[in-house]
Amino acid sequence: MAVPKRRKTRSKMRMRRAHWKVEAPTYSACPQCRQPKMPHRVCGNCGYYAGRQAVETE
Ligand SMILES: [Zn+2]
Repeated sequence: MAVPKRRKTRSKMRMRRAHWKVEAPTYSACPQCRQPKMPHRVCGNCGYYAGRQAVETE
């Protein structure tokens, strides 16, 4: 397998890392309790998913 002969310069490393950004997570409102939840996940507040109780909550 090919091995890089020279280490990448600080400049090249920083150019590459310039595209690493933090993104805000996507949220949607739970149709059951109106709390924000992650899409395609069971609601952490009421445990509902796809209109039914998927996980027991206290
Ligand atoms: Zn909910």
